[in-house]
This record gives sequence, structure tokens and C-alpha cells, in this order.
Amino acid sequence: MDSLVIEIPAELFAPAESSSYAGELAISSFEFGPDEYRAARPLSWNASITNVGGALLVSGTVKGQVTTACARCLEDATFDVEGEIEGYFLIEGEGEAPDDMEEDEFDVLPEDNKLDLEPLILAAVYVELPLIPLCREDCKGICPTCGANLNEGPCDCVPDASDEDDGINPNNPFAALKGLKLD
Ligand SMILES: [Zn+2]
Ligand SMILES: [Zn+2]
Repeated sequence: MDSLVIEIPAELFAPAESSSYAGELAISSFEFGPDEYRAARPLSWNASITNVGGALLVSGTVKGQVTTACARCLEDATFDVEGEIEGYFLIEGEGEAPDDMEEDEFDVLPEDNKLDLEPLILAAVYVELPLIPLCREDCKGICPTCGANLNEGPCDCVPDASDEDDGINPNNPFAALKGLKLD
């Protein structure tokens, strides 16, 4: 697996210098909240590292496709992700964090001048993931009684579509009262 650790070249320590990087992140599976995701193919990424005076700004994009189980029907739900890679690393002894930056918005460049892009790339992917993954927006889920996938059609436990709107099962002994009008 390609290392995503970049050793910052000496020339990048001059203000306004910039370098571009690109590669692939081969990650076969990862967890996000309660969901286990897989990526059949490596995620592709590109990033530029720019010296903004006292700090290195990392910005780029990551693209790929990830798959997890649909929260309703448990079939595969696949998502295209295209996330923004962002990082801000202060150069020790050179710069201070801008006043408008919260403490969790920047880091300090490690003493060995090596930046690991993997956590930045993963963070960019995570923000693109749904809180509740669905195979499609109107996924009907599985029948709680027989376990049938209702996307493939109604199962025997479900009343016909014509009865669906009022939720009354035709087998209910009171179903006959449904059309009853009381004046
Ligand atoms: Zn589904
Ligand atoms: Zn059923």
C-alpha cells in the first residue's frame, strides 16, 4: 500500500511555495458510526500543500465509491463520494494560528516534517457520508413480520396498495366499518 506520509521538501518552507500530490488510498473497509463501509476500489485523491507564511495549507479532493448496508433493507447501498481535503499545519517557531481559527481547525507540523494525509483524506470522506445510509431515498425496507424485502414487491402480510393509505388491514373484523358514514 502506498504511504500517504509526505515528507515536506525543503523548498516548501519558503512562503508562497506550493507542491501538488496525488495518489490512491486503498482502504478495503472502515467504520463510520454504526456502519461498516467497504470500498471496492481505491479512493483517488489529489492535494496541494502551500506555504501561506508560517503555516502549510493542505487542500484537495478525494473521490471514490463506498458501499454499506442500507439501514432499512440491509441490501448494499453505494455512494459516490467527493470530499474536500483540508488541513492547516503551523510551522513550529514561525507562525501563529490566525485569530479566526478554532483550536481544532489547525495542527502543528510534526518535528520530522512529515505529514500523514490519510486522516485528512478520511475526514473528507466522512463528512460526505449519510447519517442514515439508504439504498434509495424511498427504500421500503423489510417486512417486520416475514422479513421480505418490500422493494421487490409487497409480501403476503401487507394489505394491497389500495388499503395502504388508511392502514386498515382488510382481514381486520372492523374493516367493514371503514366506509361507514355517521350522520
Ligand atoms: Zn434499502
Ligand atoms: Zn411480510
